[in-house]
Amino acid sequence: MSGLKRVSEKALREEIVEAALSMSRSGLTVGRSGNVSCRFKDGMLITPSGKRYEETKPDDIVFVAGDGSVPKGQGKPSTEWHFHLAAYHARPDRHAVVHTHSTHATVLACAHKPIPAFHYMVAVAGGKDIPCVPYATFGTEELAAHVAAGLKDRDACLMANHGQIAIGPSLAHALELAIEVEALAEQYYKVLCTGAGHILSDAEMLQVAEKFKSYGKNTEAGPTDK
Ligand code: ZN
Repeated sequence: MSGLKRVSEKALREEIVEAALSMSRSGLTVGRSGNVSCRFKDGMLITPSGKRYEETKPDDIVFVAGDGSVPKGQGKPSTEWHFHLAAYHARPDRHAVVHTHSTHATVLACAHKPIPAFHYMVAVAGGKDIPCVPYATFGTEELAAHVAAGLKDRDACLMANHGQIAIGPSLAHALELAIEVEALAEQYYKVLCTGAGHILSDAEMLQVAEKFKSYGKNTEAGPTDK
């Protein structure tokens, strides 16, 4: 679904509710933490603040304009809307954002540990590692600037003392990547527990990136099915 412009606002709102529910049901996030958005017009559609996903209806999804203003007649957007909007500004080629406090990604983020190339699948986030951006208070422009920098040449990053963020050409891709990042975080955490582990070289990771590019040409799902 890379052609987001062809999708109606109603369909996008329904898709966001579905993605938020999937995120919750897949165990990626608990309670009201985490949020989901899609690029729309000059801004985005994003999950509302403080509502349980099971109770969220398509009409509750909030439109935030490109300048950060929220047109009247809507509820409040997620308090984390700043870094969603920053992600869209930083990456015009990406149209959906999934943010979660998934357990293992958050554990590594709290330890300020980026995920290095301990496994070739790390390249699924677009490079040789999954960076961890510095801490800043949630809901601030400062945090948004950190996230924008982290996503400049990656599709996912950890956020220190907070969680993870994944972006994609569609919500399905962003959600799939968030699930992959959580799996990699769990694996890397366990590798760290062994006290061993081998990090792949930049040359090895470049080869993986090249292979992923050719997979991308052949399948919508991308390399994550490998
Ligand atoms: Zn958060």
